[in-house]
Amino acid sequence: MSEIVIVGAGFAGLCMGIRLRKAGYDDFVILEKAQDLGGTWWENTYPGCACDVPSPMYSYSFELNKDWSRFFAPQPEIQRYLARCAEKYGITKHIRFGVEVDTLEYDEDALRWTVTTVEGEELRPRAVVSGVGALHVPSLPEIPGMESFEGRAFHSAQWDHSYDLRGKRVAVIGTGASAIQFVPEVAKEAARLTVFQRTPNWIQSKPDIEMPAAFRLPGMPRAVRNAVYWVLEARAVGFAVDPRLSGLQKWMAMRQIKKQVPDPELRAKVTPDYTIGCKRILLSNDWYPALNRDNVDLRTEGVAEIRANSVVTEAGEEIEVDAIIYGTGFKVVDAMDHWKITGRGGQKIQETWSDGIVAHHGTTLPGFPNLFLLLGPNTGLGHNSVVFMIEVQVAHILSCLRMLSDHKATTIEPRPEAMHAYNERLQKRLRKAVWNEGGCNSWYLDDQGVNRTLWPGFTFEYWAATRKARPEEYILG
Ligand code: NAP
Repeated sequence: MSEIVIVGAGFAGLCMGIRLRKAGYDDFVILEKAQDLGGTWWENTYPGCACDVPSPMYSYSFELNKDWSRFFAPQPEIQRYLARCAEKYGITKHIRFGVEVDTLEYDEDALRWTVTTVEGEELRPRAVVSGVGALHVPSLPEIPGMESFEGRAFHSAQWDHSYDLRGKRVAVIGTGASAIQFVPEVAKEAARLTVFQRTPNWIQSKPDIEMPAAFRLPGMPRAVRNAVYWVLEARAVGFAVDPRLSGLQKWMAMRQIKKQVPDPELRAKVTPDYTIGCKRILLSNDWYPALNRDNVDLRTEGVAEIRANSVVTEAGEEIEVDAIIYGTGFKVVDAMDHWKITGRGGQKIQETWSDGIVAHHGTTLPGFPNLFLLLGPNTGLGHNSVVFMIEVQVAHILSCLRMLSDHKATTIEPRPEAMHAYNERLQKRLRKAVWNEGGCNSWYLDDQGVNRTLWPGFTFEYWAATRKARPEEYILG
């Protein structure tokens, strides 16, 4: 019987496994619903899929990769990097693929969790670490007539590689981080491409260079990582301290539009009217050039209806298409509505979260002993690499586990008052930040307009606050 169950074998779950092994734990299993590891970097295979955080920073601090081919690594390379890490640190043998977790129930008498898989298997660990990530449940728009479409339709995270886009008439709905990567690729193949944009994004150029040979010199990956960390961290000043300090960011994005979009009508369409940073700033060199192409048409009116072989715009125009690609992102906060997690006293996690999702340091919850959420509430980032946050959280969980053994205790959970005080401070800071004040709508906010996803400040503040779990904030049992 494994003492710790980790759910998910992406960046988060693998990091947890690696650090557990380094700390001397061997009695854990990683359950992964897919047939291979990598999480989002296994699932997303759309053309052009690459990281928009520089790779020296989008990797584990303890396993720098001198072999990145580019400054922004493509998806297959990131997936291979994770597979290499799993192998090198002896984690692969702990992973069970094709095992999807259905429910988690806490057994108060046995002080154990019952983890039930979709297949009906039951595991009984002492602790559960969720590494399921926030961006994996595709979000599809609700457009009248969608189900009547007779052509090919798929979401960007479920790319249909069996479908040849060459010579086809294609509609893309959504212009977010995924779409700006695959649209330029689709535009090269499709006969005609109609892109439906609801809100334009602020987009800066992507310094996507091939990694120079000098990067492989001893000490270079670490030096470059440190430099990238501080450059990215500086962006938090404008996002979290005062949006007026983002002037340089806006200037860079406007320069990209001026340089790449000669047509004034298209320029007006792609220029955002909200404060930069309110939505994730995107990086691309080929998005605007793709929109300039003769076979590409950017539409800013919504899709009113989908028919058997066409989409109908809100202006009433019917556009015949062979395929529709949804680049409409993921369910983030609302994806948790479907989590089946029951804590002490039969309490469902949704009841605990009836006023919105919260956790202590984004990781632990009162009433849910020994349950740890990686990338839990308010641990996402708008300005730096989330891999950094994962590593910090993993260190925090290890510190909680150490506290258990130091005190010869079996269970740990946060004191409700500690969690509330922590979240009050956090939300107070967020209320002034660009994500709330910048005049945009984004998946960072829940349906009450409260930011439940992002950490409000510098990442080193999160590190300083969590690196050692404080006994006075927890109840040990
Ligand atoms: P996204 O950024 O949330 O973009 C979704 C797009 O679909 C937006 O343009 C949105 O418009 C549009 N949309 C959503 N619902 C719609 C509807 N009902 N009707 C019309 N348009 C609709 O999603 P994503 O591009 O998949 O990216 C999600 C996140 O994944 C990113 O923010 C990022 O964190 C991550 N990601 C990262 C990378 C990377 O390189 N590291 C790459 C891809 C994705 P509105 O803007 O108006 O809502």
